[in-house]
Amino acid sequence: MRQKLAAGNWKMNGTQDQLGMLAQVPPSQPGCEVLICPPAQLLIPAVQQALGRLSIGAQDCHAQAPGAHTGDLSASMIADTGARYVILGHSERRQAHGETDALIQAKAAAAIDAGLCPIICIGESHAQRINGQALDVIQDQLRLSLPDHLTQAPSVIAYEPIWAIGTGLIPSLDQITKAHSAIRAHLRQRFGAPGNDVRLLYGGSVKPDNAAQIFACPEVDGALVGGASLSAEDFGPIITALAAA
Ligand code: PEP
Repeated sequence: MRQKLAAGNWKMNGTQDQLGMLAQVPPSQPGCEVLICPPAQLLIPAVQQALGRLSIGAQDCHAQAPGAHTGDLSASMIADTGARYVILGHSERRQAHGETDALIQAKAAAAIDAGLCPIICIGESHAQRINGQALDVIQDQLRLSLPDHLTQAPSVIAYEPIWAIGTGLIPSLDQITKAHSAIRAHLRQRFGAPGNDVRLLYGGSVKPDNAAQIFACPEVDGALVGGASLSAEDFGPIITALAAA
């Protein structure tokens, strides 16, 4: 039985004032984990203020061991903050930082080796969706960005159609179901039975008013939530909908 996961990605938002929100969010409960991924400067105070009610994660890590990489954080440094997760390969990093599947695979391997749970993001562009290439794109990203030892530790994959992120648009429930089914089939084929343990999140404009229907889709174990994770008023009902799903 996979534990559900409501994950909030604060992106480049939040100073210490924002941490007051952590006390207002419904906490993790058996079967439904709540995760906040704040910007890096808030990782340590977030871990301290979450008091084990919530899990805390980072939004990126470097693929290499500590060394001469100005401005970066290694996976081991993130683990040292008390964070337990790291988002990798978000489309904003793929697009704005030129991150490739190979780099994301290396980062995921480093995260696993440091004891972190990677949340590996994949998803097609609008043009790829329109041209009927969405499932092929997803397969390619899975093949190239997942490390071979993915299932030796807990891991998460987030299906995030790029055109749904921050736009208010979401795919049809049928499109979400087909994408998640394809991801699960890939995991089973490549990793065997342990492929069933990888949690699959949907991400892209999840809001209180669409969460329940998204969580009813097969193989959707939760959500990666951007904008709506910045306020307890919006994230709270999404968490409640997931716990009830
Ligand atoms: C995201 O950034 O991962 C995301 C899903 O954003 P939003 O919920 O705002 O679309």
